[in-house]
Amino acid sequence: MTYYEITITVPNESRDALVNRLTGMGCLGVTDLEERIIAYFDDKVEVVKLTEELLAFREVLKESGLDPDFTFECVNLPDKDWNEVWKKNIKPIDVAGTFLILPSWETEQPDRINLVIDAGMVFGTGHHHTTQSCLLLIKRYMDHRAKDRFLDVGTGTGILAICASKLGFREVVGVDIDPLAVDAAPRNISLNRLDNVTIREGGITVAEGTFDFIAANLLSEIIISIVPEIGARLKDTGIVLLSGIMLGQEDEVIIRMEAGGLKCFDKVIADIWVSLVFRPAANTGEQAKAG
Ligand code: SAH
Repeated sequence: MTYYEITITVPNESRDALVNRLTGMGCLGVTDLEERIIAYFDDKVEVVKLTEELLAFREVLKESGLDPDFTFECVNLPDKDWNEVWKKNIKPIDVAGTFLILPSWETEQPDRINLVIDAGMVFGTGHHHTTQSCLLLIKRYMDHRAKDRFLDVGTGTGILAICASKLGFREVVGVDIDPLAVDAAPRNISLNRLDNVTIREGGITVAEGTFDFIAANLLSEIIISIVPEIGARLKDTGIVLLSGIMLGQEDEVIIRMEAGGLKCFDKVIADIWVSLVFRPAANTGEQAKAG
């Protein structure tokens, strides 16, 4: 079996939409590098059709107000190269000199918090701005809290759950609606030699009890739809970290969270992505605004 490797140079604002589309087109895996995306397809795909679909996607981007100006190149890879090519493109990621996200075949570094992640087709490679912001914000705020129970909603590869466990939370729960994530996250947890992280398939409702820290790196619409469930699972002294919010959509999320009794007290912007940190309004001395 041979593979097609498509290297795509894409404007930053359109990369997430494009990665999403590639997955929908049956892509086997995507390597998201800073300046380009490399996508792999098996040789059963019709290259002409693939090319047409990619060209047509420029129109979709244009209609969504995103920059449609991406270019791509397709090569056919002989089977023997596949594994090596795949591996060659996955490099360790240094996050602010604090974390090192690395694939299982690389060597951990003693001066970093090492997060071993084999992503495959699951979200959470560590390249995304939102993931990196989340890692740093978990680190920033966990120092001041009880490190008892941590919940990761939309765990993907398990990267945030693994981070929480490595930072000392006693019990970590990750949930995801995607069966591929539910399959991949436990493998990554084993690679990191952790035994206090449980992964469950489903939305936030499958997480039982209350938590000291809830992280949810999800799109704003999804976050907004689960505000009451987040509030119901947060301890009085707890913290909520939300990410995956596109710039311009954060006010709506803040309004909904405040209506749910949670007060925003930190905000980090990375590229076009916003991360927000909340705690119960009752715990800040302010009352939640109604409506
Ligand atoms: N936590 C990882 C992955 C974030 S990607 C990181 O920070 O990098 C978002 C993940 O949320 C995906 O794996 C997706 O399957 C999952 N997801 C989407 N909607 C969800 C929902 N309503 N409940 C739980 N998980 C959800």
